[in-house]
Amino acid sequence: AKKYGRNTFKLYSSDIEGLAHSDLRMENLLHQALENKEFVLYYQPQYHANTNKIHGIEALIRWNNPELGMVPPDVFIPIAEETGAIVQIGEWVIEEACRQNAEWQSKGFPATPIAVNLSLRQFYQADLQEKIKAILKRTGLGPRCLMLEITETIAMQEDIAAEILRDLKALGVRIAMDDFGTGYSSLRYLQNFSIDHIKIDKAFTDKLSTKEGRAIIATIISLGHHLDMTVVAEGVETPYQVHQLRELGCDVFQGYYYSRPLPPEDLIEQLFGK
Ligand code: C2E
Ligand code: CA
Ligand code: CA
Ligand code: CA
Repeated sequence: AKKYGRNTFKLYSSDIEGLAHSDLRMENLLHQALENKEFVLYYQPQYHANTNKIHGIEALIRWNNPELGMVPPDVFIPIAEETGAIVQIGEWVIEEACRQNAEWQSKGFPATPIAVNLSLRQFYQADLQEKIKAILKRTGLGPRCLMLEITETIAMQEDIAAEILRDLKALGVRIAMDDFGTGYSSLRYLQNFSIDHIKIDKAFTDKLSTKEGRAIIATIISLGHHLDMTVVAEGVETPYQVHQLRELGCDVFQGYYYSRPLPPEDLIEQLFGK
């Protein structure tokens, strides 16, 4: 062990260096990504449980970098969040999603709300409301056609969060609580925040076949309905899950069973056969 001790340590420390470097490298590449137009949005439809009509479309970012390849959001969003780059990237996401949605409508496709994910830092920037207002004006999209998805982490500063949400709601946009039940859930948040939709996290949908999983989902649905919210199930992958969720009264489904996130052309084809 002693013989390899030093080498092992060397290997280990250079691994760490490598990691730090790759993070730094990613940070640098991330800085130029907006300017180089390396981000794209994919779109995933959400369907009403009973009518199978479209409820909304979630915009999900993809980073296509010439050196790194396709980087999934779970990898680069946390880095962008840390460096603050997320504020500009997030603004691009809102603008691009609104622009795309307005374009679809101008082509005669039925008006369908577009959902955009807001990160923590983005949520707490001082001029978020004005920025969104300006984007709606620039793109000509009606505020009812924009849904903002937030997570429970924004509730860390509860009073401020409630005020920001009131300002956003005043614009006429809708708010969804994403990944519900995975963070610092509090029933108080649901009461004090003006939330329109709650999204049941895939982790719960995955557990539908167990007694406990079913009980948790049934409770979230019942809670949502008592508070006049629409309940959306995420990560729906199987006919079994569709059937169970329907029986439990879930309102809207999103998941691979219906469609993966798609580039805009493919989404339109899937929705309208055009
Ligand atoms: P999320 O907001 O919870 O988005 C749902 C994720 O689940 C998406 O992953 C989607 O592709 C995936 N998904 C949907 N249906 C299924 C299914 O049936 N099975 C499985 N296995 N997965 C499914 P994606 O696109 O990789 O995004 C991951 C996360 O990255 C998102 O989770 C969201 O937190 C974040 N994200 C994505 N786009 C943005 C963005 O524009 N801004 C910010 N701040 N975060 C974003
Ligand atoms: Ca989301
Ligand atoms: Ca989610
Ligand atoms: Ca998630």
